[in-house]
Amino acid sequence: MSDTISIVGLGAMGTALANALIEAGKVTTVWNRTPSRADTLVARGARRAETAQEAIGTSDVIVLCLTDYTAVEAALRDAGPVLAGKTIVNLTNGRPDEVRAIASRLGGYGTLYLDGGIMATPPMIGTPHAFILYSGSADAFEGAKEQLAAFGQNHYLGEDPVLAAVNDLALLSAMYGLFGGYLHATALAGSVGVTATQFLPLVEPWLAAMMTALPDYAERIDSGDHARDVRSNLAMQSVAITNIVAASRSQGIDPAFMEPMERLAQKRLAAGFANDEVSGIIEAMRAK
Ligand code: NDP
Repeated sequence: MSDTISIVGLGAMGTALANALIEAGKVTTVWNRTPSRADTLVARGARRAETAQEAIGTSDVIVLCLTDYTAVEAALRDAGPVLAGKTIVNLTNGRPDEVRAIASRLGGYGTLYLDGGIMATPPMIGTPHAFILYSGSADAFEGAKEQLAAFGQNHYLGEDPVLAAVNDLALLSAMYGLFGGYLHATALAGSVGVTATQFLPLVEPWLAAMMTALPDYAERIDSGDHARDVRSNLAMQSVAITNIVAASRSQGIDPAFMEPMERLAQKRLAAGFANDEVSGIIEAMRAK
């Protein structure tokens, strides 16, 4: 069991992570490229490392929470001599190729690597609403999971280090789809003088009601059967989708957010699936 922990990167999220560890009574070392961002944490009891190398050398478990993998590379640049036997938990948002590259490089130093995706905003950290996805070394997760639980609920997805990053990006894709759809809808309603506040009592329950379709879609997607018990066929839905795009143009709203959906629906129709559920569009997404 590891009992010391460092946070490398004290932006909005890294600061929230460090605060949660301090709250939980963990021995916490912090480092940030701009040193002043550590001051408040140090005043609350954190230990200050002067360099990233020192932060990594000081603790058994090191959490990286930085802008991107260029920043991760920069933070690890001089750490080679102190990496052996350490557990690196990288909570920086990244792509699968980046995750594989760093997992493989750190493996060469005898470092245990855990990748992660934070499904929370900074104020949610340390509350029951935060959950963090982890994947990579099972030994690293077992050793660090009690400390990591200070951030929120742990979800360990398996040994393949890319699992957390891909699931994180997939969940964010669902979120941006929701936000983008909401913004497009609000712009369209706004084109006839409806304010966002007036539109909210319509759009909020509508989205909540549509969420109930997801378990049925999941079954159809896993079975590949989009043709059984169809209630809203694609031919009908594609008319609505095309109307959204055309009406957006005529109302002076950029249809860019909805155009890909129209293209995918047409692709699926052209492939002969007019009578299937709209869940079948996933097949058009999979076939590049
Ligand atoms: P911030 O922009 O607030 O902080 C970025 C951090 O990266 C700072 O500590 C910054 O240091 C550091 N940094 C950037 N470039 C370098 C570099 N070249 N070398 C060393 N340090 C560098 O971002 P967040 O804290 O919000 O996000 C951090 C991670 O957390 C991201 O991967 C993000 O996707 C993830 N996350 C954030 C959420 C949020 O709502 N904020 C939600 C979920 C995940 P300096 O202070 O010196 O600039």
